[in-house]
Amino acid sequence: MKYILSIDAGTTSSRAILFDKKGQAKATAQYEFPQYFPKESWVEHNAKEIWTTQLKAIQDVIASEGISIEDISAMGITNQRETTVIWDRTNGEPVHNAIVWQDRRTASICTELQEHSSIFLNKTGLVLDAYFSGTKIKWILDSHPSLRKRAEAGELAFGTIDSWLIWNLTEGKVHTTDVTNASRTLLFNIHSLEWDGELLNLLDIPSSLLPKVVSSSEVVGKTAASILGKAIPISGIAGDQQAALFGQLCINPGDVKNTYGTGCFCIMNTGEKAVVSQNKMLTTIGWQLNGKVTYALEGSVFIAGALVQWLRDQLQIIDTAPEIEALANSVNDNGGITFIPALSGLGAPYWDPEATGAIMGITRGTQKGHIARAALEAIAMRSRDIIIEMQKDAGVSFDSLKVDGGASNNDLLMQIQANLLNKNVIRPYTTETTALGAAFFAGLAVDFWKNEEQLKAIWKENKAFHPIKDSTTQACIDLWEERIPKALKSK
Ligand code: ADP
Repeated sequence: MKYILSIDAGTTSSRAILFDKKGQAKATAQYEFPQYFPKESWVEHNAKEIWTTQLKAIQDVIASEGISIEDISAMGITNQRETTVIWDRTNGEPVHNAIVWQDRRTASICTELQEHSSIFLNKTGLVLDAYFSGTKIKWILDSHPSLRKRAEAGELAFGTIDSWLIWNLTEGKVHTTDVTNASRTLLFNIHSLEWDGELLNLLDIPSSLLPKVVSSSEVVGKTAASILGKAIPISGIAGDQQAALFGQLCINPGDVKNTYGTGCFCIMNTGEKAVVSQNKMLTTIGWQLNGKVTYALEGSVFIAGALVQWLRDQLQIIDTAPEIEALANSVNDNGGITFIPALSGLGAPYWDPEATGAIMGITRGTQKGHIARAALEAIAMRSRDIIIEMQKDAGVSFDSLKVDGGASNNDLLMQIQANLLNKNVIRPYTTETTALGAAFFAGLAVDFWKNEEQLKAIWKENKAFHPIKDSTTQACIDLWEERIPKALKSK
């Protein structure tokens, strides 16, 4: 067998990638699907559209030149997390549009439940927030009494996107999810590894809706032969950020990766210890492999690459995102500018939803290049804010930060990050780390790869950025620390 088929079910597109033994992508297919915004702050997907685009991507990859389905050893799945699907167990039809992780409609449910927030935190490692699946399920059942009745009668099934795809791939034979996805629902006890009766009661969710929870790397079933022409074992499941952590081979406590996309997602491996954050970072399950659970701390910055988009689309000082690098390189420093990137409030560790963005320190000498440079510094400073708190929470220090995501291709941004953190920043050859992580989980379960040692031979560094000590770095930090408090609104 030559390949592992990795399914990357993202927020805006369905992708399939075939990896060979060396971890190289041999075939790729991708289809976007529509996003629905029925009301302010509501975001929905049509789960059927997710399934049909995903199936098309899988079929395309299998039909690629030189590929035979006989050569596919197993399938791994990674997915946008928290997005909530409820469907009818008899005909597999969704009974409601999927409510996407970005959807904020359940914020008021979270406020009502606030007195129980410590119970949720202690059991799930999560802050009580609309982001997670639990309140989304509650909203669907509360808003549609007929669906609540059917849920109570055991007629309906809940799943995150992994469960939904596996249900369809197995023609309804398997209803399952893995520990990483379960750990994002607000319903799963990350210490006992069980759905939690008390949390289900608090959210008024019948347990009959729930999938069976499995590890991240084991055979959970086979694809129905009628769908792909051959039964392929499904042997790896993980939420996208956890898959990326594993795909980056952050397998030791203290290993940390940061993904630079629209926002930044930073995750640190904390080993067998579920570290409870003092700074509202999330405690989550990294993976469960060979019976052993690895925990992680997660912090996110909502605005990162989005800042570059803003310079492109609103201020229009660049035409494409990568152009920001040359513009920022047209000056030697930030010229005394600080860009406060609070375009939608400021998250951890400031937690000020009312804060608004600012460009501070403008003089007659200020050039476009200074603003571009300050924007890159702002992305790196927000990641630094989070990473410093994570290190404090975890009580470990690390040498190198592994990076991926669209904006990690910006060499200047990566060098600024290394300087500001005073750590090495390491970019891998393949930035498809999410899909690769799912392939790793699937491949380990079927002996496609024997162990983590073999995986280490696959992970290749593209470029390392070593910290350079210069006066601009400290000046940037000093200005940031002086100016951030001026941008905060909530006292
Ligand atoms: P997502 O998965 O969130 O859509 P991607 O990983 O595809 O994000 O990265 C896209 C984001 O990265 C966009 O916000 C874009 O502005 C930013 N970006 C892409 N290339 C660069 C670059 N060379 N320098 C800075 N930002 C970039």
